Amino acid sequence: MPSTRRSLLTAFLSLPLVDAAKMRAFAQATPQLALTWACDDEDDDAPTLEREAGPFYKPDTPLDSDLYPGAPGGERITVAGFVFDNLCRPLPGSLVEIWHADEHGEYDRDGFRLRGHQFSDVQGRWWFNTIVPALYPGRTRHFHFKVQRPGGRVLTTQLFFPGEPGNADDWLFHDSLLLSVNRAGDGQFGRFDFVV
Ligand code: FE
Repeated sequence: MPSTRRSLLTAFLSLPLVDAAKMRAFAQATPQLALTWACDDEDDDAPTLEREAGPFYKPDTPLDSDLYPGAPGGERITVAGFVFDNLCRPLPGSLVEIWHADEHGEYDRDGFRLRGHQFSDVQGRWWFNTIVPALYPGRTRHFHFKVQRPGGRVLTTQLFFPGEPGNADDWLFHDSLLLSVNRAGDGQFGRFDFVV
């Protein structure tokens, strides 16, 4: 049985919780060590790299995590992850905003198709059900994001797909901005944790 996007999202949402209280106590006791504390076995506690918003950003997007109805012909993908601070503590209530090209490589410049935002849940998690953006001239495949922890500054960045031929030639591409992608029976599931 191939997995589905829903089963992969459910698996993500049932991951053991980062023990924020213990992390905080640890950080207070040994601040000099806490700065090197990693969320898991990867060294992914460095702040997420910034990338330009580009010409297609629009403010005032709808509060919506189900964007796929705007592009019914596209290949479905669920993108999900945490928002962490640089001590790997989950950041609930963080703004996570996405905008991206449609299945023809075009951005909706009149309305809010494939544009939306949400706030991370009590465990710092976010997810969008959307489609895989098509390529457009001059760029490799990518999503645009803005992420803002409560009261914090806005991180503007872009996320990329593994195995894309255009990655190597894209001046904004960086390995640290790659989604971790699983193919599901009904589309793709991409994971990325923001550190802000
Ligand atoms: Fe773009």
